[in-house]
Amino acid sequence: MDRSPVFGILQNPSMVDYPGKLAAVFFLSGCNFRCGFCHNARLMQDVDAAGLPWPEVEDACRRFRENWVQGAVVTGGEPTLHPGVFPVVEKLRERGFAVKLDTNGSRPDVLARLLPLVDYVAMDVKFAPADYAARAGFGDLDALTESIRMIQERAAAYEFRTTVIEAWHGEAQMHLIGKWVRGAKLHVLQAFVPRDDLPDPACRAMRETRSEVMHPLADVLRRYVGRVEIRGEF
Ligand code: SF4
Repeated sequence: MDRSPVFGILQNPSMVDYPGKLAAVFFLSGCNFRCGFCHNARLMQDVDAAGLPWPEVEDACRRFRENWVQGAVVTGGEPTLHPGVFPVVEKLRERGFAVKLDTNGSRPDVLARLLPLVDYVAMDVKFAPADYAARAGFGDLDALTESIRMIQERAAAYEFRTTVIEAWHGEAQMHLIGKWVRGAKLHVLQAFVPRDDLPDPACRAMRETRSEVMHPLADVLRRYVGRVEIRGEF
Protein backbone atom coordinates (compact mmCIF):
# COMPACT_ATOMS: atom_id res chain seq x y z
CA MET A 1 0.00 0.00 0.00
CA ASP A 2 1.36 3.40 -1.01
CA ARG A 3 1.23 5.27 2.31
CA SER A 4 1.30 9.04 2.55
CA PRO A 5 2.91 10.94 5.44
CA VAL A 6 -0.55 12.23 6.40
CA PHE A 7 -1.53 10.62 9.69
CA GLY A 8 -5.00 12.11 9.87
CA ILE A 9 -7.37 14.58 8.20
CA LEU A 10 -9.99 16.64 10.01
CA GLN A 11 -13.34 15.33 8.81
CA ASN A 12 -14.91 18.75 8.27
CA PRO A 13 -13.32 21.97 7.06
CA SER A 14 -12.15 24.29 9.81
CA MET A 15 -13.14 27.93 10.14
CA VAL A 16 -10.48 28.74 12.73
CA ASP A 17 -7.20 27.23 11.55
CA TYR A 18 -6.44 29.45 8.53
CA PRO A 19 -7.17 33.18 8.99
CA GLY A 20 -9.79 34.29 6.49
CA LYS A 21 -10.18 30.91 4.82
CA LEU A 22 -12.22 27.78 5.20
CA ALA A 23 -9.52 25.13 5.46
CA ALA A 24 -8.90 21.41 5.34
CA VAL A 25 -6.53 20.28 8.10
CA PHE A 26 -3.88 17.60 7.52
CA PHE A 27 -1.93 16.13 10.47
CA LEU A 28 1.60 14.73 10.26
CA SER A 29 2.87 12.55 13.05
CA GLY A 30 5.87 13.06 15.35
CA CYS A 31 7.04 15.91 17.54
CA ASN A 32 10.40 16.81 19.07
CA PHE A 33 8.78 18.82 21.91
CA ARG A 34 7.19 17.35 25.01
CA CYS A 35 4.61 19.92 26.06
CA GLY A 36 2.57 18.76 29.03
CA PHE A 37 -0.40 20.78 27.75
CA CYS A 38 -0.36 19.29 24.22
CA HIS A 39 -3.82 18.86 22.71
CA ASN A 40 -2.43 16.53 20.02
CA ALA A 41 -0.48 14.15 22.25
CA ARG A 42 -1.42 11.24 20.01
CA LEU A 43 0.77 12.90 17.37
CA MET A 44 3.83 13.13 19.62
CA GLN A 45 4.57 9.53 18.66
CA ASP A 46 7.05 8.40 16.09
CA VAL A 47 7.50 10.20 12.79
CA ASP A 48 7.32 6.79 11.13
CA ALA A 49 3.74 6.07 12.25
CA ALA A 50 1.84 4.65 9.28
CA GLY A 51 0.09 7.33 7.28
CA LEU A 52 -3.12 7.22 5.27
CA PRO A 53 -2.97 5.70 1.78
CA TRP A 54 -2.34 8.38 -0.85
CA PRO A 55 -5.67 7.64 -2.62
CA GLU A 56 -7.45 8.54 0.62
CA VAL A 57 -5.61 11.85 0.76
CA GLU A 58 -6.46 12.45 -2.92
CA ASP A 59 -10.14 11.73 -2.26
CA ALA A 60 -10.18 14.16 0.66
CA CYS A 61 -8.56 16.87 -1.46
CA ARG A 62 -11.13 16.36 -4.18
CA ARG A 63 -14.02 16.40 -1.70
CA PHE A 64 -12.80 19.60 -0.03
CA ARG A 65 -12.18 21.38 -3.33
CA GLU A 66 -15.65 20.40 -4.61
CA ASN A 67 -17.02 22.05 -1.47
CA TRP A 68 -15.22 25.32 -2.09
CA VAL A 69 -12.54 24.83 0.54
CA GLN A 70 -9.66 27.10 -0.48
CA GLY A 71 -7.17 26.61 2.32
CA ALA A 72 -5.16 23.64 3.58
CA VAL A 73 -3.33 23.53 6.90
CA VAL A 74 -0.34 21.22 7.36
CA THR A 75 0.07 20.66 11.07
CA GLY A 76 1.23 18.12 13.63
CA GLY A 77 2.96 17.15 15.73
CA GLU A 78 5.74 19.05 14.05
CA PRO A 79 5.46 18.80 10.26
CA THR A 80 9.06 19.88 9.55
CA LEU A 81 10.34 16.67 11.16
CA HIS A 82 8.75 14.57 8.47
CA PRO A 83 10.63 14.21 5.17
CA GLY A 84 7.22 13.64 3.57
CA VAL A 85 6.10 17.19 4.31
CA PHE A 86 7.40 18.30 0.90
CA PRO A 87 5.27 15.93 -1.23
CA VAL A 88 2.26 16.77 0.93
CA VAL A 89 2.68 20.51 0.40
CA GLU A 90 3.27 19.95 -3.32
CA LYS A 91 0.13 17.83 -3.61
CA LEU A 92 -1.98 20.47 -1.86
CA ARG A 93 -0.61 23.21 -4.10
CA GLU A 94 -1.28 21.11 -7.20
CA ARG A 95 -4.88 20.70 -6.04
CA GLY A 96 -5.25 24.47 -5.85
CA PHE A 97 -5.17 25.03 -2.08
CA ALA A 98 -3.53 27.98 -0.41
CA VAL A 99 -1.25 26.23 2.08
CA LYS A 100 -0.61 27.18 5.69
CA LEU A 101 2.15 25.55 7.72
CA ASP A 102 2.01 25.23 11.51
CA THR A 103 5.42 24.84 13.16
CA ASN A 104 7.12 24.93 16.52
CA GLY A 105 10.12 26.59 14.85
CA SER A 106 12.66 23.94 15.81
CA ARG A 107 13.89 23.11 12.28
CA PRO A 108 14.95 26.36 10.58
CA ASP A 109 16.86 24.42 7.91
CA VAL A 110 13.67 22.68 6.76
CA LEU A 111 11.59 25.81 7.26
CA ALA A 112 13.91 27.69 4.88
CA ARG A 113 13.02 25.22 2.12
CA LEU A 114 9.30 25.27 2.91
CA LEU A 115 8.84 29.04 3.12
CA PRO A 116 8.80 29.60 -0.67
CA LEU A 117 6.19 26.84 -1.02
CA VAL A 118 3.59 27.96 1.53
CA ASP A 119 1.26 30.94 1.69
CA TYR A 120 1.06 31.36 5.46
CA VAL A 121 3.16 30.25 8.44
CA ALA A 122 2.04 30.08 12.06
CA MET A 123 4.89 29.57 14.52
CA ASP A 124 4.27 28.92 18.18
CA VAL A 125 6.33 31.11 20.48
CA LYS A 126 5.28 29.22 23.53
CA PHE A 127 7.28 30.78 26.33
CA ALA A 128 10.00 33.24 27.17
CA PRO A 129 13.29 31.75 25.94
CA ALA A 130 14.55 30.61 29.34
CA ASP A 131 11.38 28.59 30.01
CA TYR A 132 11.51 26.45 26.87
CA ALA A 133 13.71 23.62 28.10
CA ALA A 134 11.70 23.00 31.26
CA ARG A 135 8.23 23.42 29.77
CA ALA A 136 8.56 22.15 26.22
CA GLY A 137 11.53 19.81 26.60
CA PHE A 138 13.41 21.68 23.86
CA GLY A 139 16.34 24.00 24.52
CA ASP A 140 17.86 24.95 21.15
CA LEU A 141 17.05 28.64 21.41
CA ASP A 142 19.32 29.51 18.46
CA ALA A 143 17.13 27.38 16.20
CA LEU A 144 13.96 29.08 17.44
CA THR A 145 15.50 32.55 17.06
CA GLU A 146 16.60 31.73 13.52
CA SER A 147 13.09 30.57 12.63
CA ILE A 148 11.54 33.74 14.08
CA ARG A 149 13.88 35.98 12.06
CA MET A 150 13.48 33.95 8.88
CA ILE A 151 9.70 34.05 9.08
CA GLN A 152 9.72 37.81 9.66
CA GLU A 153 11.98 38.34 6.66
CA ARG A 154 10.72 35.79 4.15
CA ALA A 155 7.23 34.45 4.86
CA ALA A 156 4.48 35.54 2.46
CA ALA A 157 2.19 35.95 5.49
CA TYR A 158 2.61 34.81 9.06
CA GLU A 159 1.67 34.91 12.69
CA PHE A 160 3.41 34.07 15.92
CA ARG A 161 1.16 32.64 18.58
CA THR A 162 1.19 31.90 22.27
CA THR A 163 -1.24 29.77 24.23
CA VAL A 164 -1.56 31.65 27.49
CA ILE A 165 -1.43 29.56 30.65
CA GLU A 166 -2.18 31.71 33.68
CA ALA A 167 0.34 30.00 35.94
CA TRP A 168 3.16 30.44 33.44
CA HIS A 169 2.48 33.61 31.41
CA GLY A 170 2.62 36.82 33.36
CA GLU A 171 3.57 40.32 32.22
CA ALA A 172 7.30 39.65 32.75
CA GLN A 173 7.17 36.60 30.45
CA MET A 174 5.17 38.54 27.88
CA HIS A 175 7.83 41.30 27.79
CA LEU A 176 10.48 38.66 27.10
CA ILE A 177 8.37 37.08 24.36
CA GLY A 178 7.72 40.53 22.90
CA LYS A 179 11.44 41.31 22.80
CA TRP A 180 12.08 37.98 21.09
CA VAL A 181 9.60 38.64 18.26
CA ARG A 182 10.08 42.42 18.21
CA GLY A 183 8.90 43.96 14.94
CA ALA A 184 6.57 41.09 14.04
CA LYS A 185 3.46 41.94 12.04
CA LEU A 186 1.03 39.78 13.99
CA HIS A 187 1.07 37.92 17.29
CA VAL A 188 -1.93 35.86 18.36
CA LEU A 189 -2.81 34.98 21.94
CA GLN A 190 -5.10 32.07 22.59
CA ALA A 191 -6.55 30.74 25.80
CA PHE A 192 -5.40 27.50 27.37
CA VAL A 193 -8.27 25.07 27.86
CA PRO A 194 -7.62 22.12 30.20
CA ARG A 195 -8.62 18.63 29.14
CA ASP A 196 -8.56 15.24 30.82
CA ASP A 197 -6.26 13.73 28.20
CA LEU A 198 -3.36 16.21 28.47
CA PRO A 199 0.00 14.46 28.88
CA ASP A 200 0.91 16.20 32.16
CA PRO A 201 -1.58 15.61 34.99
CA ALA A 202 -0.58 18.97 36.49
CA CYS A 203 -1.75 20.68 33.29
CA ARG A 204 -5.08 18.84 33.43
CA ALA A 205 -5.72 20.55 36.75
CA MET A 206 -4.83 24.07 35.55
CA ARG A 207 -7.59 26.62 35.09
CA GLU A 208 -8.90 27.78 31.73
CA THR A 209 -7.37 31.15 30.87
CA ARG A 210 -9.67 34.05 31.73
CA SER A 211 -10.46 37.01 29.51
CA GLU A 212 -9.33 39.52 32.14
CA VAL A 213 -5.89 37.91 32.10
CA MET A 214 -5.53 37.93 28.32
CA HIS A 215 -6.15 41.61 27.69
CA PRO A 216 -3.34 43.09 29.83
CA LEU A 217 -0.92 40.57 28.33
CA ALA A 218 -1.99 41.62 24.85
CA ASP A 219 -1.30 45.23 25.84
CA VAL A 220 2.25 44.28 26.84
CA LEU A 221 2.86 42.59 23.49
CA ARG A 222 1.54 45.62 21.60
CA ARG A 223 4.64 47.51 22.68
CA TYR A 224 6.73 45.18 20.54
CA VAL A 225 4.68 43.98 17.56
CA GLY A 226 2.49 45.52 14.90
CA ARG A 227 -0.79 43.83 15.78
CA VAL A 228 -2.01 41.53 18.55
CA GLU A 229 -5.13 39.40 18.28
CA ILE A 230 -6.84 37.45 21.02
CA ARG A 231 -8.35 34.42 19.40
CA GLY A 232 -11.20 32.42 20.84
CA GLU A 233 -14.30 33.43 22.68
CA PHE A 234 -12.98 36.71 24.10
S1 SF4 B 1 5.01 21.38 19.91
FE1 SF4 B 1 2.80 21.20 19.62
S2 SF4 B 1 2.46 19.09 18.94
FE2 SF4 B 1 4.52 19.18 19.82
S3 SF4 B 1 4.26 18.54 21.96
FE3 SF4 B 1 4.14 20.80 21.91
S4 SF4 B 1 1.96 21.28 21.71
FE4 SF4 B 1 2.23 19.10 21.16
